[in-house]
Amino acid sequence: MSENRKEELNLRTELIRLQKELEIERKCNEQLSELVKNGERFVFSSAEGIGGLWDWNLNTNHVYYSPRWKSMLGYKENELASNLDTWKTLVHPDDKGNTLAAVEHFLAGDSDYFEIDLRMRHKNGTYIYIRSRGLYVKSDTDNRPTRLIGSHVDISTQKKAELFEQQHNKILEMIAKGDLAADIYNEIAHMYEEKYPGMRCSLLELDNNILLHGGAPSLPKAYCDAVNGLVNGPDVGSCGTSTYTGKRVIVEDIATDRKWKNIKQFALPHGMRSCWSEPIKNSQGKVLGALGMYYDFPALPDEQQSNDLLSAARLAGIIMEREQNQKRILDLAYVDELTGLSSRMYFFLNLEELIKTSRRYQRRFSLLYLDLDNFKTINDSFGHAAGDALLIEVANRLNSTRRDVDFIARLSGDEFCIIVKNLDDDCDGANVAQRCLAAVSAPLYLLGRKYTPSCSIGIAHYPDNGKNHQELVKAADTALYAAKELGRNRYAFYSPRLTELAEYRLKVEQYLREAIEKEELSLVYQPQIDIVTGKVTGVEALCRWYHSELGQVSPCEFIATAERIGMIKALTEWVLKTACKQAVNWLTLGFPAIRMAINVSPTHFLDNDLVPLVEKVIAETAIDPNSLKLEVTEGLVQTHDDNVSVFHNLNALGIKLAIDDFGKGYSSFSSLKHIKIDCMKIDKYFVDDISSDEKTYLLIRSMVEMGHNLGFEVIAEGIETQEQFNIIKELGCDGAQGYLFSKPVGSSVIAQLLSNEQYH
Ligand code: C2E
Ligand code: CA
Ligand code: CA
Repeated sequence: MSENRKEELNLRTELIRLQKELEIERKCNEQLSELVKNGERFVFSSAEGIGGLWDWNLNTNHVYYSPRWKSMLGYKENELASNLDTWKTLVHPDDKGNTLAAVEHFLAGDSDYFEIDLRMRHKNGTYIYIRSRGLYVKSDTDNRPTRLIGSHVDISTQKKAELFEQQHNKILEMIAKGDLAADIYNEIAHMYEEKYPGMRCSLLELDNNILLHGGAPSLPKAYCDAVNGLVNGPDVGSCGTSTYTGKRVIVEDIATDRKWKNIKQFALPHGMRSCWSEPIKNSQGKVLGALGMYYDFPALPDEQQSNDLLSAARLAGIIMEREQNQKRILDLAYVDELTGLSSRMYFFLNLEELIKTSRRYQRRFSLLYLDLDNFKTINDSFGHAAGDALLIEVANRLNSTRRDVDFIARLSGDEFCIIVKNLDDDCDGANVAQRCLAAVSAPLYLLGRKYTPSCSIGIAHYPDNGKNHQELVKAADTALYAAKELGRNRYAFYSPRLTELAEYRLKVEQYLREAIEKEELSLVYQPQIDIVTGKVTGVEALCRWYHSELGQVSPCEFIATAERIGMIKALTEWVLKTACKQAVNWLTLGFPAIRMAINVSPTHFLDNDLVPLVEKVIAETAIDPNSLKLEVTEGLVQTHDDNVSVFHNLNALGIKLAIDDFGKGYSSFSSLKHIKIDCMKIDKYFVDDISSDEKTYLLIRSMVEMGHNLGFEVIAEGIETQEQFNIIKELGCDGAQGYLFSKPVGSSVIAQLLSNEQYH
């Protein structure tokens, strides 16, 4: 046979085959269109492409699959057997049951038409989405369905777009709901991986030039671990480079590309060959990370993939920006800006959490409430910048105890809280407190001046002193107050008695505000006598407060409260007026002139109002300024130069000034020479031991000597026994005051004393 002839025969055979195929398809179509009566709903939409046909004999299970039906799944005409099993092996296992059930349902019902979407396996192993439509043919004799005839249309593209859209919406929903960033990253990766079978996605975050694993659900863990923590740079793979340059990086072949030279050993063993990376940016264009797409073969993106790379990075950018903002907000809220310690808010969150776990596991812990001593004075006299510097230094010192403590926070101003967990016994909290006291109290320099800070600490225990955070913090605060009261620079444990005390104080505070108006205050007077003549030369006015509910409140208590709540000025004014009036009154009644001593609180003493107030009272009561003496505690004497003018102005008014409680405070002898005072009162603390302790005796002797050398009158306070009186007399004190002569008494008793004076 000649070549031409052979070719002709081949062509003929092909032609016949095609004609046959067309004939079959035509017949099928005819049958179908006839059955659907003018093709009402059963149309082969041109938009969906031309479908394949099938014809299923329900009696024999013989199924005719048209050539197009087969080619849709990658098979040739002669390849698949014409029976139901062929369909059964090709349908996706998850869709088989549904589809058969739908057919059953259709056959049993009235509908003459069905439509179902299912997945069928392509010869290349992937699944494609098929829309299957069918209708039945009934047998002429018994009206039973004997055949099902239908079409198959490939709807993969449409279905994938739908799924992509759904996933996209799901991600937006996750973002809106505030889901975890890691979950959203994985979801984004999955979405693109499904769109491009064989592609694997990774999302990296960039933190201070370091690449951090964000999400890569399909990449091997070993690879993710190797990349996590790498510093980005111009040759650190696709993502390291894209985050470095801020530009897209397409690497067709990892094996040969220079950018992968140093890290290809992480990728190649896992089959990764190409990697395209898009930098992830925030709305200001700052690089926050990178999105990478990997294939297991060398590849370059087509237009669609190129667009998707950008879309995926944009989507990831929304979340990364959200994450970064949230982190910033949390940092701001959780960290105390000045000291870098935890913030008040974070402290309370942490405390609540700790209480929960401690309750569950029946654990105990200590809460230390720490407050700097005299911080206000630092702020007032050195300025706020120095105050801040001190706080920072204290925070650093507290931080140095980190090894022993579990949590440190600055609550506000100069207040800090420390948590000590896993207590063996209560001493653990106390030991930490002791270490904090020591750490804080090392000297430092503020504005070039040496200063020794100190703090006081209150300790409360969970659960003994409080079951919730409010109770616990309150208990520690109450203990702190007690530590301050005990003299500062120390710690104190909480005890229920302290709560009673705190409640009492609160009442004192409430009622004191009305005490002056309600005329609940009164004055008593304690005589001061001349040690030589034994005559009353003066009295000290001492304030008393009687309240109907609280009874007699101690002056130490209410004077301190008045100072704290800003009532001290009003109180001093009342005392000054009342006492001066009384002094004038005694004089007009004909008693000998005596000196009226009035206590002035240090805080008020430094106030600009004091001098005008004294002037006013002198004018109003017409008291001889010479017979008025103000007592102020010695701590004040050594304060700032500014205060010297107060002494000076008071001197100018002609009144006398006394240093009260001398020896109890911290006076430095050198500062005494700057200010002009008239009198020095030796504190009862020394007098108490004068007869029993040699050292005290010597001390008092030097005080008297020094006072006299400086030209002061020296008065000994708190003389209770004749023996004490004899000694101070021998030491040459000028005056004396104490229970031995008289307790503080009412004005009428003083009047009596003045009329028949005789003390020895
Ligand atoms: P102070 O100025 O040192 O007053 C002397 C205190 O010692 C008085 O206590 C007095 O009653 C007490 N005292 C005097 N002699 C003896 C004694 O021999 N033995 C004993 N055990 N005590 C003696 P008081 O009246 O309780 O006052 C306590 C403090 O309250 C005063 O200490 C003073 O600092 C303050 N204070 C009282 N009244 C006023 C006031 O009107 N203004 C101001 N700012 N403070 C006042
Ligand atoms: Ca006094
Ligand atoms: Ca005193």
